[in-house]
Amino acid sequence: MALSNTQYDEIIRQYNAKQIRNRHIVESRVEEVYSKNPRLQEIDDSISSCSVEKAKQLLDGDVKALSELKEQIASLKEEKTALLLSLGYDEHYFIPPYDCPDCKDTGYVGNKRCHCFKQAAIDLVYTQSNIKAILQVENFEHFSYDYFSEELIDPSTGLSSRAIIEDAVKESQRFINSFDDTFQNLFFYGDTGVGKTFLSNCIAKELLDTGHSVIYFTAFGLFDIFQKNVFDKDSDAILAHQNLFDCDLLIIDDLGTEMSNSFTTSQLFLCLNERLLRKKSTIISTNLTMNQLAETYSERTFSRVFSNYNMLKLFGDDIRIKKKLKQCALN
Ligand SMILES: [Zn+2]
Repeated sequence: MALSNTQYDEIIRQYNAKQIRNRHIVESRVEEVYSKNPRLQEIDDSISSCSVEKAKQLLDGDVKALSELKEQIASLKEEKTALLLSLGYDEHYFIPPYDCPDCKDTGYVGNKRCHCFKQAAIDLVYTQSNIKAILQVENFEHFSYDYFSEELIDPSTGLSSRAIIEDAVKESQRFINSFDDTFQNLFFYGDTGVGKTFLSNCIAKELLDTGHSVIYFTAFGLFDIFQKNVFDKDSDAILAHQNLFDCDLLIIDDLGTEMSNSFTTSQLFLCLNERLLRKKSTIISTNLTMNQLAETYSERTFSRVFSNYNMLKLFGDDIRIKKKLKQCALN
């Protein structure tokens, strides 16, 4: 991803901030165990002075002193471990809580950029912090089947709302599990509030957590990028536009709500087609019916592109309304 110097500096600044945060956390944990048993501090002090001594003897070549020191350090460490265990801690307590254990929040593994760097760059370019906050709530852990009724039957398939969502969740999990091996695309359609966006977000969260680059756009936001990229020559939009083809997963939410015209429509299909050629996955959700889609985006392009998507229809009551009703009942 092409970044400007300022953007690069901003990302490095974020990594530095994470490292400082980690250091503070570890320091305060060390203080905490010292206050519970001051012998631990003595042990740590002894270990560090023995280590300094060991380094000296290594230079002097005193083999006997060196092996004595090694033994001393080993026994101090043993005592420390036993003490920590007696207080209910283990050595993991002092490992910094890295956001990315692969690069230890440095952004680099050796001299190569870590996978998390790519997402950091995307986050910066798209100011995706808002979706990150959403993903804390909208993920499989918080997914509830309670909103999908067994009694509510989709007349076109004869399946219940519950059976349909169970199937869609299974498909979504299959999509996630085989993401690195199989090129695939998903298309969620159905009425407002039946869980399409929620399910897309669940998938986004799982893939972000496993180090994939994910870009989320509402169709409205995406079409805005198309416009600004071509007509305004807006530098952020140009950069954003480049990455639309390249990210591991592109999510386009609420297709059909945008103000479309022949220009944006052709741009959309260019983007989708390019991603197909590059074997990069896309998830689309829409409230429109298949007929409406074909009318809006021309049947020929529509069918050519979407023959490469796994079409999943969701069906049910509007969950947002159900949730509100539940809240009212609780209040
Ligand atoms: Zn990393």
